[in-house]
Amino acid sequence: MSNPSVPISFEFFPPKTEKGHANLAETRSQLAAYSPEYFSVTYGAGGSTRDTTRNVVVDLIQAGSRAAPHLSFGGDGEQTIAALLRDYAAAGVEHIVALRGDLPSGMGGASQLVHANQLVEFIRRETGDQFNILVAAYPEIHPEAESYSRDIHWLGEKFKAGADAAITQYFYSADAYFAFVDACAKVGIDQPIVPGIMPLTNYQNLLRFSDACGADIPRWLRWQLKERADDSEALIEYGLEVVTKLCEQLIAGGAPGLHFYTMNQWRPTGRLCSNLFGDGQ
Ligand code: FAD
Repeated sequence: MSNPSVPISFEFFPPKTEKGHANLAETRSQLAAYSPEYFSVTYGAGGSTRDTTRNVVVDLIQAGSRAAPHLSFGGDGEQTIAALLRDYAAAGVEHIVALRGDLPSGMGGASQLVHANQLVEFIRRETGDQFNILVAAYPEIHPEAESYSRDIHWLGEKFKAGADAAITQYFYSADAYFAFVDACAKVGIDQPIVPGIMPLTNYQNLLRFSDACGADIPRWLRWQLKERADDSEALIEYGLEVVTKLCEQLIAGGAPGLHFYTMNQWRPTGRLCSNLFGDGQ
């Protein structure tokens, strides 16, 4: 196979069970065939996966891949996060995905969320140019944003603080992405904004997840998926067609890369990559 025509990366979450770990090892090995820039590993609210995120990251590096831990302050103090950064540097981590994160209800009380631009500032202050820092961007705008332009303003602040590139929340409208990139360019943001791609595999999960994170499922797509909600195979085939087309539009329109939300499953993302770039090596 040829290498992907744009840089790609894959996102995992830290598994909770032995079976989950075995599945993730298989997923990594299958997707490594597409020569990703890195595998990123999510970070649980309030530091709840601090150790498991770290352990998965170290396992990935030991398996010969580049790994990018997601990181947020959650309720943690500067010393804890500084120690984790030193640990990541020693383990050979090159990329960090810096986020504000969300605290689930009940954990909010005493701790205050630290915005991502402040975390980026902190990482640069503590570790200089050690890491390539990635941040989140929202083509359909973050659910708590004051306005479209204020959300872009804060993305700009993350870059001013030292971020190198952004990865977006997933979306199914290429127009929303290109309009967002244009709006960013108008205020001087010229760093790469890499589309986040979520394969379509399950109707109910997608609706629940999208409502929570503010991603829009276009009305036509909702109807098409709803019609296949009870036929998993038909939904997966249809979803593959839609998301392949979306990725093709994004690449043709100049997207600087693709970041796949794998949900720790290799088949849906692997089939997408195979449609886009040919079979793995
Ligand atoms: P911020 O950039 O801080 O923005 C949050 C909100 O505040 C926005 O509405 C923004 O407009 C506003 N804002 C930004 N900066 C300021 C400021 N300085 N002052 C006032 N307002 C401000 N969540 C997890 O818990 N774990 C993960 O691993 C994880 N990975 C993710 C990966 C990607 C690629 C993406 C897109 C999201 C991820 N999330 C994750 C979800 C993310 O944590 C939530 O969307 C969270 O609500 C916002 O995080 P942020 O880093 O975008 O926050």
